[in-house]
Amino acid sequence: MTRGFSSTALSRRGLLKAAGLSAGLVTVGATLGAGAADAAVTVQSGWRYCSYCHGLWWPSSGHNVCFGRAGGHSRGSWSYKMYAYDYSLGSSYGWQPGWYWCSRCGLMHYGSGTSGYCAAGGSHTSSGSAQYGMAHEGFTTLDSYPYQFGWRYCVGCRGIWWPSGADGSCPAYGVHYPSGYDYALAYYG
Ligand SMILES: [Zn+2]
Ligand SMILES: [Zn+2]
Ligand SMILES: [Zn+2]
Repeated sequence: MTRGFSSTALSRRGLLKAAGLSAGLVTVGATLGAGAADAAVTVQSGWRYCSYCHGLWWPSSGHNVCFGRAGGHSRGSWSYKMYAYDYSLGSSYGWQPGWYWCSRCGLMHYGSGTSGYCAAGGSHTSSGSAQYGMAHEGFTTLDSYPYQFGWRYCVGCRGIWWPSGADGSCPAYGVHYPSGYDYALAYYG
């Protein structure tokens, strides 16, 4: 299992940065809508890392259930940006469609309808959420914000999570189990 930044990942990050600079700016033409902050914008700021479950969540009241803490998710120090997915991007840009906000637990997860395991019980739901695109290995940057690499997909809960030296808390397996791509999230401190 990959944890944090390996030497392989470091060299890959260098390549990605160069690719992004040469590709320039791409406009994402879709409408976002997650939680209480629904707005007709293509980029949505304010997503947070939870230091208890290690997931990515949208901090709106009434949509906050954490498998790692009874009191709900915590707000990490950084704020992350999520992008509405636009199929005009195509696969060549390296943005994966099919990511949604769960209105039950507040976490970003993969799969429309109901999928994975939700800390609120049962499965996550995509109801009421826009579809987001997640940048993975080989992606092209959409703007000038820095990206944090090393986010992973969990095959149990189907959420995205940051290993941060530990496996977090997962309602499927107790701890998250990584699989597939390394993902990159745009952020600002
Ligand atoms: Zn949490
Ligand atoms: Zn959920
Ligand atoms: Zn998990």
